[in-house]
Amino acid sequence: MSKFYKIISVCVLLTVSLMTHAQQLRVDSLRYWTAPDHTRMVFDVSSQAPHQVFLLANPARLVIDFTDAKLLQPLAQPPANHGLFTRVRTAERNKKDLRVVVDLKTAVTPKSFSLKPSKTYGHRLVVDLFSKDKKVTATYAKKPQIHKTVTKTVKNKARDIIVAIDAGHGGEDPGAHGPRGTQEKKVVYDIAKKLAVLINKKPGMKAVMVRKGDYYIKLRKRMEIARAAKADLFVSIHADAFKNSRVKGASVFTLSNRGASSETARWLAKHENAADLVGGVKLADKEDMLRSVLMDLSMTATKEASRNVAGDVLRHFKTIGALHKNRVQKAGFMVLKSPDIPSILVETAFISNPGEERKLKSSKHQARMANAIFKGIVGYFTEHAPMDTYFALNSNKRHTISRGETLSGIAQQYGVSMKSIKLVNALASNQVRIGQVLKIPRG
Ligand SMILES: [Zn+2]
Repeated sequence: MSKFYKIISVCVLLTVSLMTHAQQLRVDSLRYWTAPDHTRMVFDVSSQAPHQVFLLANPARLVIDFTDAKLLQPLAQPPANHGLFTRVRTAERNKKDLRVVVDLKTAVTPKSFSLKPSKTYGHRLVVDLFSKDKKVTATYAKKPQIHKTVTKTVKNKARDIIVAIDAGHGGEDPGAHGPRGTQEKKVVYDIAKKLAVLINKKPGMKAVMVRKGDYYIKLRKRMEIARAAKADLFVSIHADAFKNSRVKGASVFTLSNRGASSETARWLAKHENAADLVGGVKLADKEDMLRSVLMDLSMTATKEASRNVAGDVLRHFKTIGALHKNRVQKAGFMVLKSPDIPSILVETAFISNPGEERKLKSSKHQARMANAIFKGIVGYFTEHAPMDTYFALNSNKRHTISRGETLSGIAQQYGVSMKSIKLVNALASNQVRIGQVLKIPRG
């Protein structure tokens, strides 16, 4: 080989090694999001990460091998007393690879996938660990069973109205940001919790929090949790964002027939639905398509109920501040697609507006917003409580019997059943007497 070619080949080698060096994966940090049924580990990485995930036994360990990678700083350890694992160790392998070893307390099923950069984060590798040990898994999965047992033991008591409260986003998906860095997932969770307290204090009503902490739940799963809890209503709580920081106010949405009814709504629908992509889930799958067609068919009755609740909530929001839209909006939000559960989505305020960001962070204002939603819900169920509920059977309406009136006539007059009138008044027969005061249940 001539001297000239030697120089060329050295140059080529240098370039190749420089390129390889430039492409070496950098693993920066690690976050943990603990959900009732799984824990999500998220590695911040410099690009799509070639990796292998496998389990080792005795003692139980999870191994994540990053190919041609280096660690930039020590990884965060799992939260103290975590149900799944004790600690995380790292080591260099073959002088160029990185091995991460997770010491496990219990058997897990791992699932890994990559996430592309978002507004908040860059490239990420996600490792979801699903626990096989029932004790460490979902509290929310147990809740509906508890509810069933309660219903069984107090069979003759009218049931509670169940309101599923869905705090938007969570975990790796922070939602929208305020100019001061306030995260939507955080403030909507605070409002949701305050709403739950109000609902649980109201006789005849019970709240079920769909998300019980800072973790992400797939949109479809949120609907499933509401259904499992036998919810009478699904309320999803969000905060808006827009490019123009002056835009402000609340909006209330129900599901649209065909996509969105306005430019903003369309933009929003895209924005909120994008959450599933953030969570790394494939939206386009055939079963989903079929399911959504079937849902559309059976949704008509639910739609009217949703519109009514939304109207009531909107009315109460008007009393505490600006509305962004003073009519109920429609959009194709995935979480509103339950065919049999009236569902609304409340955009409480614009987090992108500095004034509203401040309000969203204020506990006092959060309470006001929770109260507006609460009053709207109570207003709706005052008129439309399901027949078998405590709420329906304990209305404030009274009727004094005049001459010639019969129980069946009164039932007809108020549009309720004779059976329910007898039930709330503890009547043994159909006999009524003049001057008798009857409680009239809600129809
Ligand atoms: Zn949102």
